[in-house]
Amino acid sequence: MTVRPTQSTSLNAARRSADLARLEECPEIDVLVVGGGVTGAGAALDAASRGLSTVLVERYDLAFGTSRWSSKLVHGGLRYLARGQFGIAYESARERDLLMTVTAPHLVRTLPMVIPVHRDTPAAHALLMWAGTGMGDVLRRAAGTRSAVLPPPRLLTPAQTRRLLPGVAEDGLRGGLLSFDGQLVDDARLVVALARTAAGHGAGVITRCSAQSVTADGVLLRDERTGRLVPVRPRAVVNATGVHAGELDPDVRLRPSRGSHLVVDSAALGDPRAALTVPVDGGTSRFVFALPQADGRVYVGLTDEPVEGEPPHVPTVPEDDVDFLLAQVNRALRTRLGRDDVRGSFAGLRPLLQADGNSADLSREHAVTVSAHGTVTVVGGKLTTYRAMAEEAVDTAVRERRLNAGPCRTRDLPLVGAADRAELADLAAPRRLVARYGTEAPAVLAGAGADPALLEPVACGVTGAELRFGVRHEGALDVDDLLERRTRVALVDSDRESARSAAEAALADAG
Ligand SMILES: Cc1cc2nc3c(=O)[nH]c(=O)nc-3n(C[C@H](O)[C@H](O)[C@H](O)COP(=O)(O)OP(=O)(O)OC[C@H]3O[C@@H](n4cnc5c(N)ncnc54)[C@H](O)[C@@H]3O)c2cc1C
Repeated sequence: MTVRPTQSTSLNAARRSADLARLEECPEIDVLVVGGGVTGAGAALDAASRGLSTVLVERYDLAFGTSRWSSKLVHGGLRYLARGQFGIAYESARERDLLMTVTAPHLVRTLPMVIPVHRDTPAAHALLMWAGTGMGDVLRRAAGTRSAVLPPPRLLTPAQTRRLLPGVAEDGLRGGLLSFDGQLVDDARLVVALARTAAGHGAGVITRCSAQSVTADGVLLRDERTGRLVPVRPRAVVNATGVHAGELDPDVRLRPSRGSHLVVDSAALGDPRAALTVPVDGGTSRFVFALPQADGRVYVGLTDEPVEGEPPHVPTVPEDDVDFLLAQVNRALRTRLGRDDVRGSFAGLRPLLQADGNSADLSREHAVTVSAHGTVTVVGGKLTTYRAMAEEAVDTAVRERRLNAGPCRTRDLPLVGAADRAELADLAAPRRLVARYGTEAPAVLAGAGADPALLEPVACGVTGAELRFGVRHEGALDVDDLLERRTRVALVDSDRESARSAAEAALADAG
């Protein structure tokens, strides 16, 4: 049975104030979720949809942390299979299927991915990689994903390879290995959709609100807008603060690893229609990707470097990472990318669980732990598996804190904007908007009212109507929320400047 929200899913400054005031008035709630990334927003939705009184607090903004810096792939779990981790590989494929068919079909598209094969590619390597794509397809079928959603892999001729990857090096090109995976139009939009859907099920969603301390007596929150301290007494606390999880539970030990991406113009790679997949240094186990995006850009990623010391809140991309990524992707390109082609860059920190050995060997699995005074920490994993992690975390909280709640309902719970592909195809709105807002795309257009200027792009195809929607319904409180997270305009500095005044106007219009 499909579970639908019963309350408004709109987030905005007025709702934030009301949620905060309600929490101050009634500090005894069932579940407080700390951290508004994909894991925390998923946990808030899980708890609220079970009927638990739930509040999600986030120090900055929804998707402020790692969740907006991912590669935006909805993985089938092939890399886990390669390491013999069958359970997690299957879980990943199953969660991918749910995201693409039930929870967020509007936000996830089918992405063709091509590994070009050149004369100097060792035959054994090509065979191994082809076997890998075959195993990925076994996983797809095991998870019940239809081939209409993710077609099976196939071999490409050189001409077919060039058609999908016009920028590929032609010298010695023998063909390509084509496979398919899921790709989010925007990871931050998934987080916002989760938080809004949670709000629709009654959760309070309070951004600019940090957890200062968690003890057996309760949690001390701080309203970051006013500096006011707000003590609360939740029956259960879910710590979903990603790489900062150890600040609330010192027993949780993480060793974050930095993953960097470069932003380049799609035209610099000949406007690829597939992800170019390049084996690092000609090996077979690690890859650099050139991932085409919906806004005329390509993201080239990614690195995997251990980060020592206190993890920064906004990581930056070091020069070494730029050099590494350019060198690797250039091995497969006809016209080399240079520093001048890099329009922007971003880095995220993987919340990896502490283990012995190198970063590449650390566990990508998630953990759900319970502290001495009962705080449930959920950390690690992947964006793709957020729902399963949230389910386990809330199950643990219900069990440990003896909460009165039913079973998890999120498997059948479409996020705000979701619909099946046929319904999405019939919507009377531009495809670009449907891919970002799903069934809400007509409402985004209607929000422009009588002002046609709001339908004109301000940067990267983003319109003033989208910015207005971000303020009125998606909880954006300032220019950065709008340009860095409700849209991704700010990934390129010049785009941010082009859109700044429209963002300010959208905020003034709401105020
Ligand atoms: C470079 C890179 C690429 C990746 N690519 C993929 C991919 O393609 N596919 C995939 O499935 N996964 C991918 N991942 C993994 C995935 O992005 C992460 O596992 C996931 O985003 C982690 O989400 P989270 O909610 O646990 O953490 P975060 O997104 O970091 O959220 C934690 C939040 O907690 C907040 N917070 C911290 N302390 C407090 C406090 N005291 N009070 C209130 N709030 C607080 C932070 O501000 C932050 O918003 C990638 C990871 C990286 C680094």
